[in-house]
Amino acid sequence: VFNFSAGPATLPEPVLRQAAEEMLDWHGSGMSVMEMSHRGKEFIAIHAEAEKLLRELMAIPANYKVLFLQGGAIGQNAFVPMNLLRGKAGADYVNTGEWSKKSLKEAGKYCSVNVAASAEAGHFTSVPKQDSWKLDPNAAYVHICSNETIGGVEYHWTPDTGSVPLVADMSSNILSRPVDVSRYGLIYGGAQKNIGPSGLTIVIVRDDLIGQALPITPSAFDLKTQADNDSMYNTPPTYAIYIAGLTFQWLKSNGGLAAMEVHNRAKAALLYDYLDSSSFYRNPVAREDRSLMNVPFKLRDDALDAAFLKGAEERGMLQLKGHRSVGGMRASIYNAMPVDGVKALVAYMKEFEASHG
Ligand code: PLP
Repeated sequence: VFNFSAGPATLPEPVLRQAAEEMLDWHGSGMSVMEMSHRGKEFIAIHAEAEKLLRELMAIPANYKVLFLQGGAIGQNAFVPMNLLRGKAGADYVNTGEWSKKSLKEAGKYCSVNVAASAEAGHFTSVPKQDSWKLDPNAAYVHICSNETIGGVEYHWTPDTGSVPLVADMSSNILSRPVDVSRYGLIYGGAQKNIGPSGLTIVIVRDDLIGQALPITPSAFDLKTQADNDSMYNTPPTYAIYIAGLTFQWLKSNGGLAAMEVHNRAKAALLYDYLDSSSFYRNPVAREDRSLMNVPFKLRDDALDAAFLKGAEERGMLQLKGHRSVGGMRASIYNAMPVDGVKALVAYMKEFEASHG
């Protein structure tokens, strides 16, 4: 089957096969990774290798810490202000859709939130151009969601926030293409789209931003506590870290992030080109801001949605139903989605249009 779920999402088949092979006995240890102590030499090696590979893939500079935490991206919506306010009263947020709205609402519990720009008036179909942003020079940081998983809107440029640290929720496009980590103060993301099982949250943070958490910050989510303990202040999500490491290895053997970008652009182009050539289907997002990862689309008549989904499922194409807040369809085409999956979807869309258009 081809699984178009927005997350938890499809993983590379070789990763799952290797995990299955090693499930009962990892490298002759006689143990499953799930059964290992996080303080034992086997797991410490797995953890270190995962971090090394992630650093290599993303070319993470030495003055950044890589943390493997729990709590999800939604947890980070609170942990970011708790950790990064550094004595400042407020932070800037750019509102590009459902996920950034959640982030700024949560931050409002801890600081004053300045919505520096919002795409709400245009129903979240674009990223506001930076010259329209009203940044506060005293903000503790500027927060963006680099890819809105529900709306299918993605930044294809990096905002310039001067000396104010840029913070990005990269949950749904991390590792889909190269990014210049040095342009960010902190990057976070849940693992369940491009990386591995849910339950693992990746945080990449510049050293100098660590160490001034609000006193109310839970110890397990104080970046300093976790950085000082190599993400092992408490038991980390060990199995998810192991699978993440296998995915990182798969990415490396497939040419790294530059190759992933080529692969992802090719898949997205197949789908958007067809959507644009058809009057039966429609994607509302401004062309230059369209997501390479999540492609929402509507049928001309939403009374046909159920028939479309049923036919897709019969052909082994799963989870195409759009998010409940927007309706229609959504095809999530993360790294692990092969080009054949997108070709099969486009072929089915053409067939459906021919019989119902
Ligand atoms: N941010 C984005 C962009 C997402 O797509 C998601 C969905 O998983 C989340 C945040 C929420 O992440 P979590 O459920 O891991 O807290």
